[in-house]
Amino acid sequence: MKYLILLPVIALALLFNSCSSKDEAKEMSSISKSSVEKVTAKLIKKYGDQSKVRIEKGVSQVAMFWTEKDGSSSDFEKYCEDNFVAKNEDLDLLFKKLQSNFEVLYGHYNKITLDLNRALHLDGDPIIAIDEQFGAYSPFAHLVEDFFNNKIAFNVLLNFPHYSLKEKTELGEKWSRKEWAFARVGDIFTSRVPAEISQNISDALTKAGTYIAEYNIFAGNLVDEKNATYFPKDMKLLTHWNLRDEIKSQYANADGLVRQKMIYQVMNRIIDQTIPSVVINSDKFQWDPFANKVFDNGKEVRASAEPNNRYKTLLSCFNAQRQADSYSPIYPTYIDRKFEEEFEIPIDKIEALFTELVSSGTAKKVGDLIKSRLGRDLQPWDIWYDGFKARSSMNQDLLTEQTQKKFPNPAAFQSDISTMLKNVGFDNEKSNFIASKIDVDPARGSGHAWGADMKSENAHLRTRIGKAGMNYKGYNIAVHEMGHNVEQTITLQYMDNWFMRGVPNTAFTETWAFIFQSRDLMLLGHKNNDENVKYMKALDNFWSAYEIMGVALLDQSVWKWLYEHKNATDDQLKKQVIRMAKEVWNKYYAPVFGVKDQSILAIYSHMIENPLYLSAYPLGHLIEYQIEQKLDGKNLADEMVRMLTQGKMIPEIWMKGAVGDGISVKASINAAEEALKYVK
Ligand SMILES: [Zn+2]
Repeated sequence: MKYLILLPVIALALLFNSCSSKDEAKEMSSISKSSVEKVTAKLIKKYGDQSKVRIEKGVSQVAMFWTEKDGSSSDFEKYCEDNFVAKNEDLDLLFKKLQSNFEVLYGHYNKITLDLNRALHLDGDPIIAIDEQFGAYSPFAHLVEDFFNNKIAFNVLLNFPHYSLKEKTELGEKWSRKEWAFARVGDIFTSRVPAEISQNISDALTKAGTYIAEYNIFAGNLVDEKNATYFPKDMKLLTHWNLRDEIKSQYANADGLVRQKMIYQVMNRIIDQTIPSVVINSDKFQWDPFANKVFDNGKEVRASAEPNNRYKTLLSCFNAQRQADSYSPIYPTYIDRKFEEEFEIPIDKIEALFTELVSSGTAKKVGDLIKSRLGRDLQPWDIWYDGFKARSSMNQDLLTEQTQKKFPNPAAFQSDISTMLKNVGFDNEKSNFIASKIDVDPARGSGHAWGADMKSENAHLRTRIGKAGMNYKGYNIAVHEMGHNVEQTITLQYMDNWFMRGVPNTAFTETWAFIFQSRDLMLLGHKNNDENVKYMKALDNFWSAYEIMGVALLDQSVWKWLYEHKNATDDQLKKQVIRMAKEVWNKYYAPVFGVKDQSILAIYSHMIENPLYLSAYPLGHLIEYQIEQKLDGKNLADEMVRMLTQGKMIPEIWMKGAVGDGISVKASINAAEEALKYVK
């Protein structure tokens, strides 16, 4: 389920971001060390030692981004002297102005984007070309450039300097709310990437997205050595999602194993690029993926392999991101920007967490349970085992009858939100207020949630309701999106200051959406979901965390390798990705599966079109279990408001405030261990 929201601080960082070495970064600045020292000493002399830290940080950060076109060294020195704000009450006043103006800017930018996309997102007139053009237009694109040019960015850096993740981790627990908010102001301008380079990055990502979006396999054209076909003639499977889901769905078929094996072989050929070009996105030929032979109506034809396009695409994303490195002196690599700046969890910490879970004894135990449930040895594609499906004791048809009657249209859903919120423990006042800040709109697609970014605006819940009314499946998805909207509303409307709005990162928003989704029956007014559902869900989540953590570890290794081999060719990259995929497999999966040297972890499309995003999924799983454990026996609404009004702290400190402990794999492992006692 797609979660759409503009988190402007992060969005800016993403848009205007890049990666390179610290030495290159220094070249952007036209200010010498002696000039920095001179003005720093002058300001300390003038304002005293109590302002020393702010002066040193502020002046050096202004210097990092100051270029010749901003003025000479003496202009720089004069700028710092004229604009440094020393007195507390003056700084508070400056903060107040920045807060109200940035809320105006981001709030309206968000609203413009939301409104310009109405034609694309909402049910209505047919989409024409101009709708796509308006939808693609970004009112954000020149903000950073403009704000360095008019020197507002320098004022922000000078007076509210940026604190690194390490500093936030060390100092943040003792910071007041005001100090946290000041630090968040300092997160706005961390790079100064020219618009042209931002455009190149955006182009490379768009091309990668298109490469994946047009990578379909026509399953009905897959044949075995006897020329037999196994899939419906018109079945078109997008890599890797539909291929994987087809493997999942075949668990329900008595003779599904042969089909799973065939799809798995297709995946291997995509990874090692031995796949014939002519079978990608085309149903012209038949293809035996085992012998790797292509046929035209039974007659073999010569076909050449895909020429490493998968790895060329990844390389071009890497090279585009790298161009901007020298304009990001604070986070000089894409890896830094993703983990230190966006997720705000160091890559080493994530690696340690994931490694702890994938190498745990629990993985072996769950693997053994799957083996006995399947009645056969594990196959590598059983990383996608789909048999822990939580089946509620409630009849789905009866539920659909109920939801269709209850929600004939979006307005009916809208008017029931406050009642649903009361059903999970919100008091009258909060239920009514939160419900009043959510608009339900008829979606063109499957739906999404889009939050507001200024208090005067509402969050939007987009949902698709058929003519017969909302079916149970649609209702379940709408509840997921509503979880996002409730989180978005609490973290904007109940926040003590605007710069602290939101949650630490996207994994946290997904967590709350899933917490709501799993209480869908409760929201409808039924009693709590049953125990069996809870145990199956624990095993299902553990197994999918185990699977995707390996994929995320591989994604991380690939980017580390790329930064160590900046001139790598596509062929070298391919070989290394396969080598590293096998390495991760042999370490953490071979002991459970009893099969070595598999490269399947390299199949994920995210690795190509959304690099380094994959780690967010398993983080979400972990956080969800820790929060669920804390919610046990408590009022969900009170706990939700308590945790969320912490706002955008860094994840580690937010979690300590929320559940009393930093991010950990223990809750997830414990829940799976508990479930293992009951599920056979
Ligand atoms: Zn979501």
